[in-house]
Amino acid sequence: MRRALQGVGASKGLALGRARVRHPHALQIAEETISPEHVDAELARLDGALEAARVELAGLRGRLHGTLAQEIGEFLDLHVLILDDPELREGLRDLIRTGRYSADYALKLQRDRLAQAFQAMDNDYFRVRLDDLDHVIGRVHAALHRREDDGVIGLAGEILVADDIAPAELAELSRRQLVAVVTRTGSPLSHSAIIARGLHLPMVVGCADALSHVNDGDALVLDGRDGLIVVEPDADDLARYRALKAKIERKRASLERLRRAPTRTRDGIDIGLHANGERREEIAEALAAGADGIGLFRTEFLFMGRATVPDEEEQFLAYRDAVLGMAGRPVTLRTLDLGADKADSSGLALRNEPNPALGLRGVRLSLSRPTLLDAQLRAMLRASAFGPVRILVPMVTAREEIDAVRTRLHLLASRLRDEDVPTGERVAYGVMVEVPAAALTLADYADLVDFAAVGTNDLVQYLLAADRTHEALDGLYSERHPAVLRLLHQLFAQARDARLPIHVCGEFAGRAEDVPLLLALGLRDFSVHPGAVLEVREAIRAADVGKLRRRAASLLQCRERTEVERWLERARAL
Ligand code: PEP
Ligand code: MG
Repeated sequence: MRRALQGVGASKGLALGRARVRHPHALQIAEETISPEHVDAELARLDGALEAARVELAGLRGRLHGTLAQEIGEFLDLHVLILDDPELREGLRDLIRTGRYSADYALKLQRDRLAQAFQAMDNDYFRVRLDDLDHVIGRVHAALHRREDDGVIGLAGEILVADDIAPAELAELSRRQLVAVVTRTGSPLSHSAIIARGLHLPMVVGCADALSHVNDGDALVLDGRDGLIVVEPDADDLARYRALKAKIERKRASLERLRRAPTRTRDGIDIGLHANGERREEIAEALAAGADGIGLFRTEFLFMGRATVPDEEEQFLAYRDAVLGMAGRPVTLRTLDLGADKADSSGLALRNEPNPALGLRGVRLSLSRPTLLDAQLRAMLRASAFGPVRILVPMVTAREEIDAVRTRLHLLASRLRDEDVPTGERVAYGVMVEVPAAALTLADYADLVDFAAVGTNDLVQYLLAADRTHEALDGLYSERHPAVLRLLHQLFAQARDARLPIHVCGEFAGRAEDVPLLLALGLRDFSVHPGAVLEVREAIRAADVGKLRRRAASLLQCRERTEVERWLERARAL
């Protein structure tokens, strides 16, 4: 029977496929005991499954190359470590030997035991580990039940419906022609969602009913833009799907023409258009789309999902690759922004913070770890010998912070010169505006920085006191809130008066439908996901800045989001 389910669009694209439902394995196993004469066979079955899981992980690892190998490989290495953990293995064997439990039930018990220990510690570090533990347990459990014809989940034309998905799994599934992913939990700002967008794999997250309302084998139509999923679509749905698909194809073909077109408005104003990206594929896509440069390279991606911190050399190579990849166009490297929603496993960010979003993250963490900051800045300065580099500092709240990093940067640059290590002649230095305090006082930073980048993802959450990853706050968290628009207007005016180049690199900039808002508020430089460059260029080329600016006053008078939306509709018709 036809059903429509609503989730949150996390990676756009339209997909039609057969559901492959994956229930959270370890949580659903009924108690089962075995007789003493079956203990040895059960132990052998367990060993076989552990080995199969190990082979699978090694196979996955071996097939990854390029930056994906680095990014996702770390997760896989962590999973191998968990799989080989003596406590896990001995615990399982003990449960089978002395408890006489089936291997399946032993898996559940052992998982629950470890999970309880993790949860008792009640901090982000172990919550991240708990996800990894669940993925490993799920893999072993699947291996216990593998039939010849099962294969690995994610075959051509299938849509995975799962509780959650690890970033490590996504690349493999996409390679196996999986067409889309739906998860019950998660947020569009999660690491997995960011990777799905990079892979152009449609994804819907936070679909509360996904596991209870979708059965294995159901036909699904999924729209990754608005998060709508139709289970067992009827003839009308399929006709709509075909029409929409054809429209998307036509749109894609027409966007292709814009690869070499100038990013110029109808009334002849040139607008900057950069891309956000780190992975090699993203850099290549940014260049192919004619982006002016990389407006945001999030260096924390090098630090996530691994047990050790990357040293200066490893960082240098990654930054240099990006600089070379952009063939002379500037690359904006942001110093580490770990903490809050980006909990790492390298043990860098503080654990047990009662309020991590307001705690030791971004520049605060960097300044508390001078060795770490020095390694990053040195690696960035060295990469600048290969092409234009701009260094950007996140989560700045006070002038002193930006001054402290700047002093360090100058000192390290002069040390590198003394050591005869090549660096670029000039490295631009910038502040990220993502805390309201910095937004209100940007002009005071103008003598210390060469440019500013606005991180609206965080700025909105701090301005509206609404967690950016909180599923239930979706309606409140909005870039179209009048307070956000007024603050941005004031911010762009400060930058203009101080002659400080400014761009927006939060998700807001990448939403083509919101381009008129940002242009009306005074923005002249965007940095967007590589997949959004052409669409945003198209929206900019369709806009008339003069007319939009003349309507800025009425935009600033809007008191509610719906009024802003009505303004936007009228602006699109200009
Ligand atoms: C932002 O906050 O808008 C931003 C670009 O940084 P991140 O999403 O990495 O926090
Ligand atoms: Mg941010």
